[in-house]
This record gives sequence, structure tokens and C-alpha cells, in this order.
Amino acid sequence: MTDLAAAFARLLHQGAHDLRPGDAIAPAIVPTTIHHLPDSPEAKYQYGRYTNAGWERLEQALGMLEGGATTLFPSGMAAVAAVLYATLKVGDRVLLPADGYFAVRALSQQFLAPLGIVVQQRPTRGFADEGFENFRLVWLEVPSNPGLDVCDVPAVAAAAHAAGALVVADTTTLTPLGLRALDHGVDVVAAAGTKAINGHSDTLMGHVSSRDATINEAVRNWRKFAGCVPGPFEAWQVRRGLETLEIRYERMCHNAQAVAEFLASHRAVRAVRYPGLPGDPAHRLARAQWTAFGFMIGATFDSHQAAEAFLSGCACIAQSTSFGGVHSSGERRARWGDAVPEGYVRLSIGIEPTQALLAEFARALDTL
Ligand SMILES: *Cc1c(COP(=O)(O)O)cnc(C)c1O
Repeated sequence: MTDLAAAFARLLHQGAHDLRPGDAIAPAIVPTTIHHLPDSPEAKYQYGRYTNAGWERLEQALGMLEGGATTLFPSGMAAVAAVLYATLKVGDRVLLPADGYFAVRALSQQFLAPLGIVVQQRPTRGFADEGFENFRLVWLEVPSNPGLDVCDVPAVAAAAHAAGALVVADTTTLTPLGLRALDHGVDVVAAAGTKAINGHSDTLMGHVSSRDATINEAVRNWRKFAGCVPGPFEAWQVRRGLETLEIRYERMCHNAQAVAEFLASHRAVRAVRYPGLPGDPAHRLARAQWTAFGFMIGATFDSHQAAEAFLSGCACIAQSTSFGGVHSSGERRARWGDAVPEGYVRLSIGIEPTQALLAEFARALDTL
């Protein structure tokens, strides 16, 4: 049994040993801004912007999976911003993946660059080729999105550390079950819980995990003073979603492999990117470093029109941006200006019964 499996089993019994007879097994939502605080204020909970018992429960659960102390944020971008603002200062140079999540680049260019932070970018493929000399912070996204390219995480971390940089990884698409980045030399994980971790497309959430106490304290102080805090109900909801992550992730990856193989064999699809296909450029590294190949697929159709006809004609695709839900979803990424062909569709594969999903994909593709 892997550490991760053991951690997930413990997560499902989180807090059980602290229960007294008659206590509720399901955790409480704690909607309070203030706490009973007579005399000295040195209580565990003081004020709603500092801590909340419900956040702590989710932080502990995510911390078990990530293998590092975890701080919760109200969205993935809030977690990303906390890491950038808590670690960078004027004159620092930060390296971002040019093909990574758009908002990370936009935040850095629009708000960090004017503060005197130098923002540079390069593609995920060949990320380490030019070295990391003089960077204060190196940001990775594994895999890149929507192109699904990969870099060698432990090799990048080692080279970046040798150059004196801090290494941050956004593992939103893989979740800690797919890649526990802190075990691969990464200093900090910044990720969204909005996607597969919650899994039901109904709540935004994010988290930062690290084994470095100084970074964790800076990130917590950023949250406390910036006031960038999740709601107690949202934290409760994401913790409940997290309970089924392991079983959902397994089905999603299994379905994605089957769908990718089917798409690759169909005449209406020009090209398929999926790390689980042996010919995919990401296959070798993904097989060596990830626990599964993930649930995201890139499929290129002959034209804008063919792609849209497939998306609207397939009853098992929710036409939406974002990903990681129980339902398969997809969209043409060129509509957002991504550097991909007009007919490139990013698919997020859900937990539908495999044969039913394949049958509906086949029916929709055959009409093209
Ligand atoms: C969605 C996403 C984010 C941001 O998460 P939000 O909850 O939407 O703020 C960051 N990184 C990646 C890779 C994502 O997919």
C-alpha cells in the first residue's frame, strides 16, 4: 500500500478518535466571526478572518494527501496570489510556464511587474533547457493546460534549487493523488480545489501546501492580513467532495484512457493528446512520475465547425470551461485565444459508466 492510499484511508476517518459518545460523525459547519474570548486572547480560535474549525478540518485532510502543512484559500487563484505575494519582492525574477494557466500569467504581468518584479515565461516542454540562473521563483504547471505538455518535475526542481530558486508547482489537473509534488522536490504546491478535488462543479476553493515553515507562515499571514478567506460552508462542501476523490479519480482516469484510445482510432479526429497513449510526447515522464495519466484529453478536429458540432451533438459533454467534474465536459480552447488549432477541443472526462460514455462518443462522432 502506498503512503497516499494510507493517507486517503486515514482521511476518511479523520477526527474519529476525538469523538465522545453521541457526537455527530459528520463534521459541523462553524459559521462564526467571533469566539468566546475572555481575559487573555490566547485561545485556539480568535476571529473569523484568522482561523475557522471547518477550514482546519479541510486543511488537515488536504495536508495528509499533499504531505505538507496546508493553508486554505477561497479559490485557486487566491492560493496562487498568496504564494506570489508572500514570497516575491522588488527586483526578484519569476519564471512562469508560457503555456500554463492564463490567470497566473495575467496576475503577474498586470500587478507584479509594475511592483518591480521581473516576469519571464518559457514553454513547459524543454522547461529546463535554458537553466534557472538568477530566478528567485520557478513556477511549474503539470501538465500544462490546455496543451498537456509536461516537464521532468524532480529534474527541474533540482536544477532550480542549484540555481537558488524556490520551486512552486500547480498540480490542479492531477490532484495530489496523481502527483504528490512535495515528494518530487517541489517546495510549494499551489492548486485549485475548484476542479477535481471538490469534483461537483459547485464551489471555488484553493490551497497552498509546503514543508517549509517560513513559507507557510508568510502565506498564512498573507491570508490573515489580505482577508482572502474561504467561507465556512464552502470549506465544508469541498471536504465532503474530497471524500470521494480517490474513487472518482480512478474512474475518471480509466474513462479517459478508454476515450483517448477510441478518439485516436476515429476518422473524424485528426490528433489526440493524452499522456496515457504510448505515442504521446508526455507518456514517458507521466508513466515514470504520475500515479495515473489523468482525466484531461486534447482532441483536434478538422475545423472549428466540426469541433463545435461534436461538442453540441454529444449528450455526454457539458459545454463549459473548467474541468474536473463528475460529468465529462469540453470546449474549444481557441475561443479563449489559446495558441492551439481552431478545431482543438479540451475534454475533461467524468465518472459516467464507461461503456455508456464510449457509446455516446461513438454515436456523436459518427454523425460528423
Ligand atoms: C482553475 C485553475 C486555477 C485557478 O482556480 P480558481 O479556483 O478558478 O481560481 C489555477 N490553476 C489551474 C491549473 C487551474 O486549472
